[in-house]
Amino acid sequence: MTRRPRLATVWLDGCSGCHMSFLDLDERLLALLERVDLVYGPLVDSKEFPEDVDVTLVEGAVSTRDDLERIHCIRARTRLLVALGDCAVTGNVPALRNRFPVPVVLARAYVENVARQPGTTFDAEVPPLLDQVRPVHQVVPVDVHVPGCPPCADTIAWVLDEVLAGRRPAVGTRTRFGA
Ligand code: SF4
Repeated sequence: MTRRPRLATVWLDGCSGCHMSFLDLDERLLALLERVDLVYGPLVDSKEFPEDVDVTLVEGAVSTRDDLERIHCIRARTRLLVALGDCAVTGNVPALRNRFPVPVVLARAYVENVARQPGTTFDAEVPPLLDQVRPVHQVVPVDVHVPGCPPCADTIAWVLDEVLAGRRPAVGTRTRFGA
């Protein structure tokens, strides 16, 4: 018996809007789950990214050391990597901080803009920020780029149909940056 394709979704530095758009597939999610095994993502209770994944949708940019380690692991374990949304494709909103050094960004967020308990001494479990936020393709090879902030559910459904059929979708005809 041939196995069903294994699908994962990943959330790096993004606002979750791309995953909300994925959830907007609504009843199409049920049809999708009859075609694939959803093996990792915010909807799945799995702590470790699994081996042998056929398609991974990546929301968000690469902003922390944790993101960096995760995306290398994800790439190594995924056949077809999809950068989903403008943050994954270009860096978008998270990359706005690239004009400033990390200590300036932290001071702005956790000292200047807070009224109570200002400070930038973090718990050791908080992943350190990278000096620069990077789109996914600047860190690992990406197979399909899907612009949009977020891409709409119809676009996500079409992209999944295409890649599950073994095709590389010509996404430029369907969506655009910021759409
Ligand atoms: Fe949020 Fe837009 Fe980034 Fe998606 S592309 S994570 S919707 S800011």
